[in-house]
Amino acid sequence: MITRFAPSPTGPLHLGHAYSAMLAYDMAKAAGGRFLLRIEDIDQSRARSEWELQIYNDLHWLGITWETPVLRQSDRMTNYTDALKDLWSSNLIYPCTCSRSDIKSALGAPQEGVQLHGPDGLIYPGTCRNLPRPDQMPRDVTLRLDIRKAAERLGQLAFEETGRDAGHHTALASDVAKTSGDYVIARKDMGTSYHLAVVVDDAAQNVTDVIRGADIQDATYLHVILQKLLHLPTPAYHHHRLIRDEAGKRLAKRDDARAIAKYREEGATPADIRHMLGLPDSA
Ligand code: GLU
Repeated sequence: MITRFAPSPTGPLHLGHAYSAMLAYDMAKAAGGRFLLRIEDIDQSRARSEWELQIYNDLHWLGITWETPVLRQSDRMTNYTDALKDLWSSNLIYPCTCSRSDIKSALGAPQEGVQLHGPDGLIYPGTCRNLPRPDQMPRDVTLRLDIRKAAERLGQLAFEETGRDAGHHTALASDVAKTSGDYVIARKDMGTSYHLAVVVDDAAQNVTDVIRGADIQDATYLHVILQKLLHLPTPAYHHHRLIRDEAGKRLAKRDDARAIAKYREEGATPADIRHMLGLPDSA
């Protein structure tokens, strides 16, 4: 088994991150497998090296060790571009120049019973889908996946879930297409997207079990679609419960009060953090 923890260095790690990291670490150890750390820093406007250092410190303090060198997504842009070229040559992605407000106005007034949002935000109305495509894949533009065209090639999608809703999950790609729309595969300012980078890297690192929060669960079929289009294996997924504050709100990076560093400053031990999260003592 190979698991990974893949934080973005855009703020302090909080209890929710500690939960993900420790679950992934414990699962790998229990299976005699490997645990990897990956720094997801494709959003260079928000990533900071101070946060990356703090991630290392917090994880060490929690008793987690990982293999080095650590994979950093900002070093992997050529891999993402290669995957994009592959999708471009299969005629599955297209440039999009719509702004968020263009999309909103194209969608018009909300109609009752019509789903507006998919796992990647507003369902794209397709404005740029059928414009003539340049021969060469353009750079520094937004690229979207023509999900209906992709769905025609894919048929049935499937993945194994070992966390919440454990079992063998299946869906027709055409149904996923309807509820997801043409999602962004490369952002203009990044040259890639979370969805593309995570799929390419989980495969490159031979990750067998992806452990992550239930907030990303809805995006799993988007990832399975990319895996199939790029001929990459689909790992097993383990979506875990979200760690919430007393008011039941999901923790966010800005919730400094629940930052691991804060607990540590206040004298908590890693064992206290495990107890707080309902995790067994480390072996
Ligand atoms: N980089 C993502 C995050 O912030 C991780 C997503 C994943 O594990 O697939 O939290």
